[in-house]
Amino acid sequence: MKITFLGATRTVTGSNFLVEACGKKFLVDCGMWQGSQELEEQNQEEFEFVPSELDFVLLTHAHIDHSGRIPKLYNEGFTGKVYAHKATCDLCALMLPDSGHIQEMEITWRNKKRKRKGKPELPPLYTAEDAARCLKLFEPLNYDEIIEITEDIHIRLNDAGHMLGSSIIELWTKEDGKEQKTVFTGDLGNNDIPLLDSPTMIEDADYLIMESTYGSRLHIRNDEKAELFLNIVSETLDKRWNSCNTIICSRKNTRNFI
Ligand SMILES: [Zn+2]
Repeated sequence: MKITFLGATRTVTGSNFLVEACGKKFLVDCGMWQGSQELEEQNQEEFEFVPSELDFVLLTHAHIDHSGRIPKLYNEGFTGKVYAHKATCDLCALMLPDSGHIQEMEITWRNKKRKRKGKPELPPLYTAEDAARCLKLFEPLNYDEIIEITEDIHIRLNDAGHMLGSSIIELWTKEDGKEQKTVFTGDLGNNDIPLLDSPTMIEDADYLIMESTYGSRLHIRNDEKAELFLNIVSETLDKRWNSCNTIICSRKNTRNFI
């Protein structure tokens, strides 16, 4: 098995891993680069593989930095299945066309500026219509079920507790009579938070590919959050600032909640 790290390395967006195993080529996530202009320009660059040569995509969750280049993949010849939790499929049906709409709006604005400088117009990365078309590739799955993708490739989705449908993917590949297990965590949630379940504990793996966005940071305890939030609201009201200052103050202080 060979894994090529094409995104979400040394930065937190553009999640994209190319896996070659059991005679198949597939992706785990195909996310959009987001953040600085320099990063976002990478979305326009050619993929470092041929989309039509891919057999399938495994998608950890619907956030655009994990799913946002799937319409581009489809436009460039990918016709395989996108395996994802059923809630991820439902969310992508809303979020990807919305992302396409944003691409159309942004390019209209950029082209106005380019026109003034005498530069040629650029097309959007993809349109809302392109995004709606690629949804037919999505294959909805449940948590906790082992799915046979091919005779030698099996997967299981486990609740990652990060957002609705988010999945830790267990991947079993059998080559030369030997089976190996690789785990892709996707983005991980926290324990004991309202609305979402805690991330599933995975017992074992031969290889683990894990997100580490908050790896060097301690989150505040959940039971302290409500009290801290109440204090910020009370403090802000006590200061009786005008509404503009209140918003700035609240935003600054609530950064710790994210
Ligand atoms: Zn995420």
